[in-house]
Amino acid sequence: VLTTAFFVAWFEEIAKQVRLQRERLTALDAAIGDADHGTNLDRGFTEVGKALTGSPPTSPGQALLSAGTTLIRRVGGASGPLYGSAFRAMGKAVAEPVTLAGFAAAFDAGVVAVEQLGKAVPGDKTMVDALVPASRALALAVRDGVGAREAFDLAARAAEEGARATIPLRARKGRASYLGERSIGHEDPGAASSALIVASLATVAT
Ligand code: ADP
Ligand code: MG
Ligand code: MG
Repeated sequence: VLTTAFFVAWFEEIAKQVRLQRERLTALDAAIGDADHGTNLDRGFTEVGKALTGSPPTSPGQALLSAGTTLIRRVGGASGPLYGSAFRAMGKAVAEPVTLAGFAAAFDAGVVAVEQLGKAVPGDKTMVDALVPASRALALAVRDGVGAREAFDLAARAAEEGARATIPLRARKGRASYLGERSIGHEDPGAASSALIVASLATVAT
């Protein structure tokens, strides 16, 4: 069962990894965007940490809603509303006690929220290209009855592969799409940060 503390630890780990990888995320965005993805997310997840410390959530749903609202309010770029809506949708979908199956269903609700808000489909070279394979891997892990740690590892690997697979794609959504053919040959920054968010789950589950 995934407790409120697990979700708080997940957001702490995301904040830590975003801080460590801020320059890499910004460099990816410099290649096909406006070079702010790392700083956008660093500011956003630092604020998430402050919000969760300032008013500690008493349920997983509250933790997710608080994080989502903070990201929507505090991140100026496209990624803020997208990730914010994802966590808010997860928070609304999640029911206590949070089993792995419940988490997987909530995660998928989050991915659907991103798809609806951004209108991107897999192959458009966005965060969706990492999030959809991660959600599918989680659903398969639940079906196969594997434990949380292994399920999160499988999801992390799927997200990382999905992010890498954005390199040869031409962007069809977001700023990178303005580059047309010139977006080819670079990893999508949002797909890279999504892989980091999913990998943080596996780290926290140990
Ligand atoms: P901005 O582009 O406003 O500067 P960020 O740099 O923080 O915002 O985030 C860019 C990332 O947001 C992209 O790499 C992509 O993954 C994601 N993104 C942008 N537009 C969309 C969209 N319509 N649907 C899904 N993801 C998107
Ligand atoms: Mg940007
Ligand atoms: Mg920007």
